[in-house]
Amino acid sequence: MINKLVIVGVGLIGGSLAMALRQAGAVKEIVGVGRSWENLETALQLGIIDRIETSLAGAARDADVIVLAVPVAAMQPAMQELAPHLSVGTIVTDAGSTKRDVIAYARKHLPNHITHFVPGHPIAGAEKSGAAAAFAGLFQGRNVVVTPLPENDAEAVSKISSMWQTCGAIVNSMPALQHDEIFAAVSHLPHLLSFALVEDIAFRANAKELFSYAAGGFRDFTRIAGSHPEMWRDICLANRDVLIREIDTYHSQLDRLRRMLEQNDGKALEEVFGHARTARAEWLEGKQDS
Ligand code: NAD
Repeated sequence: MINKLVIVGVGLIGGSLAMALRQAGAVKEIVGVGRSWENLETALQLGIIDRIETSLAGAARDADVIVLAVPVAAMQPAMQELAPHLSVGTIVTDAGSTKRDVIAYARKHLPNHITHFVPGHPIAGAEKSGAAAAFAGLFQGRNVVVTPLPENDAEAVSKISSMWQTCGAIVNSMPALQHDEIFAAVSHLPHLLSFALVEDIAFRANAKELFSYAAGGFRDFTRIAGSHPEMWRDICLANRDVLIREIDTYHSQLDRLRRMLEQNDGKALEEVFGHARTARAEWLEGKQDS
């Protein structure tokens, strides 16, 4: 049971966490803090939070758990502001999509509280944002990665893992670099490619005509280009070293396909497409099993 839960950034992720914990009867009071008053009012009206706090200092008082669910670059000023007001036993965690940057901010701004800062990342989401998009079932059956620090208090890590499990999630633990490398490949690169394709089409002279004929394939490939630009700016910049390597790898794959086209090599193309189709089918099958 969490007596006082503070959500900093009551958007899709923070709001959904609050709703899931409330639905599970695992929290007494939920306090929301954020940048947009309108969004906090929405969260209050929807019953996602019990009350709004205007300052992090006020919100931090006697909190059991503080969840940072703002875009990753906004975690740094939030930690800076929180630091002088944290009580000894308060656990601080985050939901950021990148981990090395958030951990570096915590080491810099929360050095006296580092035992109780537990980094996390729920692998669930959508291209929608804000409190109105939140729903209690978001984390049901989904993975949450925690990247605990060597300094972490074991009980704090266990409490954060239990918090996510209470929301129906499966908790995995791994080092922050491994996390950032994995998600650069399977999340950050696909988002970048999706944004790039839409940008490319949108600024062509015949964009209107192209969009008018774009159908299911284009819609599927570009769904994630509907994601929040600020959030994705922060993620791409925070993980840019690894993401640049992923872009280079992808580039080599495109060069390979380009050569096959130049050489009119249908057999090689079909082989690549076949491998990819099988790999995707096996991945989807594995997902259904889990
Ligand atoms: P969101 O836009 O729905 O919510 C973010 C909230 O933070 C908003 O309410 C916004 O008003 C508030 N906010 C933004 N900047 C702020 C600031 N400087 N100070 C205080 N409040 C601020 O975004 P989200 O999808 O809930 O993402 C939140 C975090 O979760 C991000 O770090 C993101 O990387 C991570 N995440 C997102 C997804 C996803 O698919 N959406 C998945 C996993 C993790």
